[in-house]
Amino acid sequence: MAIKENIEKLKSDLPPQVTLVAVTKTHTVERIQEAYDAGLRVFGENRVQELLEKQPFLPKDVEWHLIGHLQTNKVKYIVPFVKLIHSVDSLKLLQEIDKHAARNGRVIDCLLQIYIAKEETKFGLDLKEAEELLSSDKLTALKNVQVVGFMGMATNTANETQVRSEFKSLNEFFTNQKSKFNNLRSLSMGMTSDYKIAMEEGSTMVRLGSAVFGERR
Ligand SMILES: *Cc1c(COP(=O)(O)O)cnc(C)c1O
Repeated sequence: MAIKENIEKLKSDLPPQVTLVAVTKTHTVERIQEAYDAGLRVFGENRVQELLEKQPFLPKDVEWHLIGHLQTNKVKYIVPFVKLIHSVDSLKLLQEIDKHAARNGRVIDCLLQIYIAKEETKFGLDLKEAEELLSSDKLTALKNVQVVGFMGMATNTANETQVRSEFKSLNEFFTNQKSKFNNLRSLSMGMTSDYKIAMEEGSTMVRLGSAVFGERR
C-alpha cells in the first residue's frame, strides 16, 4: 500500500490522545517527505548517524524523536534540534543531555526507557531504578532536561497475553508515578506488531515503522 493510504488508515485507527511517531530507519528522505506531505510531522530514528544524515533534508517543522540507544559522546550532535529522546537509561546520560541543552539554550524532553520484556537486553531501567532516578536530587538539579514519561518495548512474541501484561505493568507504574511527578505525561509503547494492544493498555505514543512505510528491506 502507498504511504499516504497507510497514514490515512492509521489516522482513523488512532484515538486523538495517541501520538503517531513514524519510524524512519532505513527509509529514504524521499519516502519520509511523502509521509510529511500526507500530514505527518513527528518522526523517529533509532540511530544518531541516520538521523543526522536525513534531518537537514526535511522541512524544519519536523518534530524529530530519537527512539534508539544513545551514547553520551553522540548527545551533542542531536541536542540542537531533537524534540524528544525516548531512550534515556541513566543519570549520566541525562547529565550529558542537560549540559549540551544548556549550551544550546534549550530544555530537552526525555523519556526513561524501562525494561519490561522477558528478553536479554542491555538497555533500560527496571521499575525500581526508574523510581530512584525520578526522586533523586541529582535529577532535580538538572534544569535543561525534563523527564516527561516512559518508553517500553514488549517481548517480541506472538503470545498476546504476555505482551499485554508487560504493557499493563508499565502503565500501572506510569499512573502511579504521575501522581507524584507532575511532568509525567507520555507513555511510549507499541510498534507495528503490538500497538493495538499497547493502546488498549494506556499508550499515548506509538512508534510505527512498517505500518507507515511498509516492510523494511
Ligand atoms: C524500528 C523500531 C520501531 C518500529 O518498528 P516497526 O515494527 O517497523 O513498527 C519502534 N521502536 C523502536 C525503538 C525501533 O527501533
